[in-house]
Amino acid sequence: DAFIAKVGGAKALNAFIVETPDHAIAAATAADEARAKGEAPKPLAGVPIGMKDLFATKGVQTTAASHMLEGFKPVYESTVSQKLWDAGAGMLGKLNLDQFAMGSSNETSYFGNVISPWRRSDGGNAPLAPGGSSGGSSSAIAARLCPAATGTDTGGSIRQPAAFTGISGIKPTYGRCSRWGVVAFASSLDQAGPMARDVRDCAIMLEAMAGFDAKDSTSLNLPVPQWEAGLSPDMTGKRIGIPREYRVDGMPQDIADLWERGIAWMKDAGAEIVEVSLPHTRYALPAYYIIAPAEASSNLARYDGVRYGLRELPEQLKTDKPLDEMYAATRAAGFGDEVKRRILIGTYVLSAGFYDAYYTQAQKVRALIARDFENAWTVCDYLLTPTAPSAAFALGEKSADPIAMYLNDVFTVPSSLAGLPAMSVPGGLDKDGLPLGLQVIGRPLDEQGVLNAGLALE
Ligand code: GLN
Repeated sequence: DAFIAKVGGAKALNAFIVETPDHAIAAATAADEARAKGEAPKPLAGVPIGMKDLFATKGVQTTAASHMLEGFKPVYESTVSQKLWDAGAGMLGKLNLDQFAMGSSNETSYFGNVISPWRRSDGGNAPLAPGGSSGGSSSAIAARLCPAATGTDTGGSIRQPAAFTGISGIKPTYGRCSRWGVVAFASSLDQAGPMARDVRDCAIMLEAMAGFDAKDSTSLNLPVPQWEAGLSPDMTGKRIGIPREYRVDGMPQDIADLWERGIAWMKDAGAEIVEVSLPHTRYALPAYYIIAPAEASSNLARYDGVRYGLRELPEQLKTDKPLDEMYAATRAAGFGDEVKRRILIGTYVLSAGFYDAYYTQAQKVRALIARDFENAWTVCDYLLTPTAPSAAFALGEKSADPIAMYLNDVFTVPSSLAGLPAMSVPGGLDKDGLPLGLQVIGRPLDEQGVLNAGLALE
C-alpha cells in the first residue's frame, strides 16, 4: 500500500487499458451461486484475473496497445481466455503491454508506459520499468491489483517482466496454449502463459489455459497434465545444468550473486549441479531479431485500413493511387516507432536480395540452438540461469537505444527459439532492493519439471 500511495494510487501504474469490473463480478456471483447449490467449485471459481490486451475478448476492446486497433471490439473470444472463463475466472480488465508485444519495458504502448510498483531502496525515485512486453500484467500482480494474469512470451515477455517485479511466470512449450485469438507477433515463437505471485498459482492458471485447439494448426494434441497436483520441490536425483556461455562478459556482481544463490538453493533441494555448454548462445539474439521481425512484418500486413482497425484517408490525394495512399496513411498513423522498425527490418531480411544472407541464415542458427539444448538434455534435466542481465531499469533509460533494449533479452531468447518451457521465479533482491529473477528451462513438454524446479527455488 505504501508503494502504491507513493506512486499516486493504483491508477498511476497505468497497468489497465480497460477495466471490466462487471465481468469479474459476474464470475464471483456465479461462483457464489454454485457454492450455494452445493456444486463442486471450478478450479478458478470467482478468481478476478487480468487479461493482457493481446487476447481477443468478445465485445471488449482489444488493442495490442496500438492506435491501429484502438476501439476494436472482437466478435469472438480467444481460446485461452474462453478456457479461463470456463474454469470460473472473471476479468478485471485488459492489461497494458508493449505495442504488438514488441519491447522489453512496456514503453512502446500507445496508451503510455506502465510503472512498476517497486522503488529503489536508496531513495532513487526514478519510476522503474515493469519489464515487457507483459508489463501491465507484471505491474498489476506485483501491486496486488490482481492475483494472476495472462501473459504472452515471444522472446521473454512473460519471464523478464516477472523477474523485474518479483513475481513468477511460465512460458510453456510452444504449442501448449492455443494462439487462436491472440494478436499475432511472431507466430513460430508466440506462446501464452500465466503470471502470478507464486509457482502454485502459475500451475493452476496454466492447467486452465493449456490444451489442444483445432483452430490453431500448431496446437499440441496432448492431454493437459495435472500440474498442480504434481508439484514437488524435491530435486533429489535431478541434474541442474549451468550453461557456461551465459556467464557473459561484464555480468554485474548482483546477477552473478543471484545465480550462485540459485545454485545453492538447488543443492539444498537435493540436486546435482553440472556445467554444460550451449555453444551457439551468442548467435541467439541476432537470430531472434531477424526471425521475429520477419514474421511480424508478414503478420502485421493485415492492418491495411480495409478490414478492421484504423483507416486513415488522406484529405488530399497526392498520386493517382488512392489505395496505396490509404495504406500508407493508415500505417503511418496506426503503428508506433518500434513496430515500424520491426516491419522495416522484417521486410528487409525477407526481400529477395537479402533473404539467404539473413533469414535463411537465422533459421540455420535457430536449428543449431535447438540442437545445443538437445545435447544439454543428455547430461542434465533442467537449466538454471538468471532471467535478465539486470534488475529493472528506469523508464526512459533504454528507450532511445533499441540495441540496449534488445540486449535485455539475452537469456530468454534462446529457449524461445527452441520452443522450450521456461519459467522465471523471484531470486531475491539486489543491492538496491530491487527484485531479480531466476530462470529454469526444461525439456520439451516438461512443464511439470520446470514448475517443480521453480518451487525448489521459491
Ligand atoms: N523483448 C522481446 C521483443 O521485443 C520479446 C517480446 C515478447 O516476448 N513478446 O521482441
